[in-house]
Amino acid sequence: MSEARRIVVKVGSSSLTTASGGLDADRVDALVDVLAKSRSGGEREIVLVSSGAIAAGLAPLGLRRRPRDLARQQAAASVGQGLLVARYTASFARYGVRVGQVLLTSDDMSRRAHHRNASRTLDKLLAMGAFPIVNENDTVATDEIRFGDNDRLAALVAHLVHADLLVLLSDVDGVYDGDPSKPGTSRIAEVHGPEDLAHVDIGSAGKAGVGTGGMVTKVEAARIAAAAGIPVVLTSAVHAADALSGGDTGTYFHSTGKRSGGRLLWLQHASTPQGALTLDDGAVRAVVERRKSLLPAGIAAVEGEFSAGDPVELRDTRGQAVARGLVNFDAKEIPRLIGRSTRELARELGAEYEREVVHRDDLVILR
Ligand code: GLU
Repeated sequence: MSEARRIVVKVGSSSLTTASGGLDADRVDALVDVLAKSRSGGEREIVLVSSGAIAAGLAPLGLRRRPRDLARQQAAASVGQGLLVARYTASFARYGVRVGQVLLTSDDMSRRAHHRNASRTLDKLLAMGAFPIVNENDTVATDEIRFGDNDRLAALVAHLVHADLLVLLSDVDGVYDGDPSKPGTSRIAEVHGPEDLAHVDIGSAGKAGVGTGGMVTKVEAARIAAAAGIPVVLTSAVHAADALSGGDTGTYFHSTGKRSGGRLLWLQHASTPQGALTLDDGAVRAVVERRKSLLPAGIAAVEGEFSAGDPVELRDTRGQAVARGLVNFDAKEIPRLIGRSTRELARELGAEYEREVVHRDDLVILR
């Protein structure tokens, strides 16, 4: 851990707020102290993924608690994001460090151009000595508001920037083998793979009431990162300094897999298919066994209202999902392509129809 050169640190809403729910300047400063010092030798690069926008936006909008409806949560995030970054800007200024705000959605991880641009911007910010602070772009995407308080986003960002370590900070100092408030439970110091947690009940909701993640999404994010070759430390924000210096804190997830293409990681773990294509048996074999692209000739049916670029499920004729991919056509274009050869389509409809329905580079096999 102490040797990690590029680190993504994720902090949850509950670690940045006061008991009444507003942004807690002292807690922000304490975190920034740790981050700025850990980076100060110049050998280390850190990207911060910070939640807290909704929490910061509540009081200024006269809301006494987190609203239930998504639109007001998004409005709160819109007001709060500016305040959150202003707070970080002032806090990092104490160290003469500039911050750069990067708002992302997990969709951005799949679209080739967005992925490339996000990765380039983050690299450039780091190269120029600025401190990137990422949050979900809550106005347009609500995945993390609903499911995870930025946990999954942090795993995808860690992959995007080729991090050597992901540190997930929250209000709990690790994964426990039972309810941490009860005697006799102990912290699980290391996880070598999913089997190590098979017997553990991870629980559900976030405790503090301002975040949404809880332990489940953190462990899931840790698994995504570990499976993509990035080790993870899951601990509480008060132990951030220990986590960054390699101290014995929290739960350490050893990496369990090798790095894979970033967009594909998103496709497999974080995308919601917008429709489905049913493949004939030959196409299933071509896609699954021979790792070929999906051509119009192999499609038997289409379902859903997707647009070109959206994730879709590829199914066999029994309805079983066999793969997931980014589709190159809108749903309404597909019926007239079904079962026909690309050459025939090009002749009849124009050269732009001589392409795969799902390119092999945009596919993950699910079985
Ligand atoms: N992006 C949201 C925020 O920063 C996620 C956290 C949440 O759901 O509370 O507020």
